[in-house]
Amino acid sequence: MRAAVYYGPAGSWPQKPMVVTEVPEPRLEPDDVLVRIAACGLCRTDLEYLKGAPIPKQPPIIFGHEPSGIVAEIGTNVTNVKPGQRVLVATPIPCLSCSFCQSGRQNLCPNMMVVGATHNGAFAEYVVAPHWGVCPLPDSLPIEESSVITDAVATCYHALCNRARVRRGDTVAIFGASGGLGLICVQIATAFGAKVIGVGRKKWKLQKARELGAAEVLGLQEIEQADRAVRNLTGGGADIAIDVTGVPAMIENAFRATKPGGKVVVVGFSFEKFQLSVNRLNWLELNVIGSKNYNVRELPKVISLVERGFVKLDQIVSHRFKLEQINEAYQMLDKGEMLRGIVLL
Ligand SMILES: [Zn+2]
Ligand SMILES: [Zn+2]
Repeated sequence: MRAAVYYGPAGSWPQKPMVVTEVPEPRLEPDDVLVRIAACGLCRTDLEYLKGAPIPKQPPIIFGHEPSGIVAEIGTNVTNVKPGQRVLVATPIPCLSCSFCQSGRQNLCPNMMVVGATHNGAFAEYVVAPHWGVCPLPDSLPIEESSVITDAVATCYHALCNRARVRRGDTVAIFGASGGLGLICVQIATAFGAKVIGVGRKKWKLQKARELGAAEVLGLQEIEQADRAVRNLTGGGADIAIDVTGVPAMIENAFRATKPGGKVVVVGFSFEKFQLSVNRLNWLELNVIGSKNYNVRELPKVISLVERGFVKLDQIVSHRFKLEQINEAYQMLDKGEMLRGIVLL
């Protein structure tokens, strides 16, 4: 099969770190589903790997952890999907037997399988995954654009619904609202009846956040203090502030924009450190909450939300690439030139 293989080590970035070549098809075990990939989303995590962040699986590795496709073959123990069925493959696939999995926090499973990180992924014609990580995709959703549900949309859903526990009437300030994850958060928070304030670098880039439901938008380059502006707009601070950037200054802004007793949820991924005032943290009893991926059980709920039109994939997927363009695609992602890109197989 054709696949984009990363041979490592990093250092070749931003040249052509991945090579499209012929590799053997993955082997099917009794619990596995073999999926013929239709599309796979591009993600910043891969970019971190390409730039030298430690990869769980030693190269050579095939990246790609946001796959959609059609079931090609099933193992002897598989009953939840059939050959020919349209499916998504979950990004985090838990073991289901450890104490975290048993207590409902599957996304913290220490034995987590991630296609494209711990195992070969979906920048390839085929991928295998255990059946509990494979979820049917309704006919009404476009198979290619739906690939971004398995990481980007589901991760935002988990942050808002599981970690922040957003409720109707909450004010939710989203830091990084003009990017792909931010625009997904805007739509999900709006779907749950929250009043959304979108915060981003440039106000003109936030126009889309407004179209997708944000009641207010704030450009960090136009106003001096975004945190104060959020506090003014909300009469004392947002109930929930979400950071999707992982940038320390943004997280610190989010922290100061949250009302007493409120929640700051950090979804953006980075290796950086941020500083928060202890005084503000305990005096206002703020809750600073991390959020990682999602629980595989949440995926059908996320698909249903998209199916009912609350998340518009065509507003999020801005770029489509062929597998042969994968290096150029990641260079574009690095320059911040796309909302969310997908590779078509
Ligand atoms: Zn990802
Ligand atoms: Zn587990």
